[in-house]
Amino acid sequence: MENKQMLMIPGPTPVPEKVLLAMAKHPIGHRSGDFSKVIGELTAGLKWLHQTQNDVVMLTASGTGAMEAGIINFLSSGDRVLVGNNGKFGDRWAKVSKAYGLTVEEVRAEWGQPLDPNAFKAILESDSQKTVKAVIITHSETSTGVLNDLEAINAAVKAHGQALMIVDAVTSLGAVNLPVDEWGLDVVGSGSQKGYMIPPGLAFVSVSAKAWQAYEGAKLPKFYLDLKKYKKATDENSSPFTPPVNLMYGLQASLEMMQAEGLDAIFARHRRHTEATRAAAKALGLSLFAPDGAASPAITAIESDSAEAIRSAMRKKFDIALAGGQDHLKGKVFRIGHLGFVCDRDILSCVGALEATLMGLGHSAAPGAGVAAASKVLCA
Ligand SMILES: *Cc1c(COP(=O)(O)O)cnc(C)c1O
Repeated sequence: MENKQMLMIPGPTPVPEKVLLAMAKHPIGHRSGDFSKVIGELTAGLKWLHQTQNDVVMLTASGTGAMEAGIINFLSSGDRVLVGNNGKFGDRWAKVSKAYGLTVEEVRAEWGQPLDPNAFKAILESDSQKTVKAVIITHSETSTGVLNDLEAINAAVKAHGQALMIVDAVTSLGAVNLPVDEWGLDVVGSGSQKGYMIPPGLAFVSVSAKAWQAYEGAKLPKFYLDLKKYKKATDENSSPFTPPVNLMYGLQASLEMMQAEGLDAIFARHRRHTEATRAAAKALGLSLFAPDGAASPAITAIESDSAEAIRSAMRKKFDIALAGGQDHLKGKVFRIGHLGFVCDRDILSCVGALEATLMGLGHSAAPGAGVAAASKVLCA
């Protein structure tokens, strides 16, 4: 059947009809007074979502653009940085940092395990000369379904006093509590196709006063991603370059929906979906890749040597798109995205279809066990 595809991948995520309709308009001039009002409203909404009074700017880019901007605006070639690496995205920040000539010290954990806050603490405590300029981590590591303990790692950064805390929040913002001001996070990057419930194309960066101070001394070259340009324009409800006007209409609608639901309810929904998905996987006799105490609110990675056969059957028979494993995990795990515009019914549909798929592939899981386990969580 056409037009019934269900996206259960960690981005792009499903887009509500309200958002699609909001985008179905003629674009207007981005220098017009009317559009200026839109930018003003969006900026206020983004600050609400980030729980911050810091600047939050919008870039026409994917999430990686936000993170690259978050690195090149505040650092100089040769600067010593600690990069948390326990998956594909942590690895990407090490690569970006190296591409710009930073002196990268990786703090690693096995894929599937969370970063150890004490490892950061030990290095930062021994840095009496204050040579560490930034700590860069991925909050929700999408490749493995692990949520890193940002609060604890950030506490070590705060105790150090000098280093900036730079965070990839691409699959945690809008899914789990991320109080930017309360925790004092300096740079937080995210992207539209994840928790924002809009299509790909916009990236967001929040910047603290301390990061702006670092900007003044930062010497890496930049032009399109020079965040000061965006700050200046945003302060005047404007944009330095042509923004994706229609995507921003969509963002207006999605922020309205998020504000109507409320942050606590949004976080509770993501937690419920994570728990239901994990309970179902366990009941079906499948192994979860991330431990219970460090489960991402956005994505659940499940181990199976039949991962690709499961994904293929889910797509062909049920038109449900699941994500595969990345790099060495290809064929070893499949990943169920439950981020953004996802409701309880989606989880039950996905778990039911997964059960039927396993049955079709000859797995021995007890019929009904996954749906029963998920229902128990969802209806508690
Ligand atoms: C999706 C994602 C990104 C950004 O990827 P883009 O393809 O550049 O949007 C970055 N970090 C994490 C953790 C992600 O899940």
